[in-house]
Amino acid sequence: MTMKKRAPGFETLAIHAGQEPDLATGATIVPIYQTSTFTQHGIGGHKGFQYARSSNPTRSALEKCLASLEGASFGLAFSSGMAAISAVLSTLRPGDHVVASADIYGGTYRLFEKVCKPQGLDFTYADGRDPGNFARALGPKTRLAWIETPTNPLLSLADISAISGSCRAKGVKVAVDNTFASPYFQKPLALGADIVVHSTTKYVGGHSDVVGGAMLTSVREVYDAVKFHQNAAGGVPGPFDAWLTLRGLKTLAIRMKRHAENALAVAEHLSKHPAVESVIYPGLSSHPQHDLARRQMTGFGGMVTFRVKGARPAADAFFKALKVFSFAESLGGVESLVCHPATMTHSSFPASVRERLGITEGTVRLSVGIEDAADLVADLDAAFSAAG
Ligand SMILES: *Cc1c(COP(=O)(O)O)cnc(C)c1O
Repeated sequence: MTMKKRAPGFETLAIHAGQEPDLATGATIVPIYQTSTFTQHGIGGHKGFQYARSSNPTRSALEKCLASLEGASFGLAFSSGMAAISAVLSTLRPGDHVVASADIYGGTYRLFEKVCKPQGLDFTYADGRDPGNFARALGPKTRLAWIETPTNPLLSLADISAISGSCRAKGVKVAVDNTFASPYFQKPLALGADIVVHSTTKYVGGHSDVVGGAMLTSVREVYDAVKFHQNAAGGVPGPFDAWLTLRGLKTLAIRMKRHAENALAVAEHLSKHPAVESVIYPGLSSHPQHDLARRQMTGFGGMVTFRVKGARPAADAFFKALKVFSFAESLGGVESLVCHPATMTHSSFPASVRERLGITEGTVRLSVGIEDAADLVADLDAAFSAAG
């Protein structure tokens, strides 16, 4: 009897994929190849590397590792999440139409509206909570569907496989920004999407010490076009940034487990707090899409959003009193952060759009870190008391 060879698990890939001992020296950890150029032994005599904008061995290791974690054939790393998103959009041409989730990352919305639109792309924003909204927005010129799930900051979900199904039928490619869930909790390609992007600044890097992005796909023509743009436009990460990201990736699985445990503890606690109007966390059965979260994700992530009673003044006093949570933009690091989306991450949305989406002045977003959960809960309680 022949046994089918078992594919390596996520944790094993995170630590080993693309990271064989260094061929030149045997170094166990992928070295930081801090070089811009590679000496060639005669015409055409290079070892796969010629100039570091085109490729660099430290970056290649990161690209291979990230691709393996998303179940993709190809991976490309960028200098930031926005550079990765911009590279994907660069594959479109004037007149092409994109359907995007309505409450996407503020920077993505700004790129679409202020950079891509003036260059001739057309956008329709659809509420991803009903996949029918995406299906209905597809037109003859639609080339790309842009999904964020869970969304930022309202943590609403889009059904990746339902949307991918309707897009596939019309030849429209589907891209998922998987930053919030990370590949540990959600695998968009396995659910039918064509492209995954990450801000690796967040959970993938995981330590708030490096900015980066990535694009993963198994579609050869998408890879070729985005790779062409990566080299032509040059938004690449330096070798040290690639190395830091690769180092962060090694512990992604254990960090994500802990983020999710702590986030659930915080969300459950906030749900019972008298100063809190409502709590949004996909892992709570009160989340309107809890069933979809259970179907499409293998864990609910580390982001928790809630609304305080008494709107902005109450929120402001609350922020000032927190000690363990830092009042800062960004998310996904080992340390807990808190932010005010209406004036920070989502200030690039017009007030009317924020209002319609429900990003109110009293909305607070937590990136729950991996500290002792009891300390996090105590910090929130103390800040509520101080805010009166
Ligand atoms: C942060 C973020 C981005 C942008 O990534 P940068 O690394 O900051 O350029 C894109 N999408 C989501 C969901 C993000 O959280």
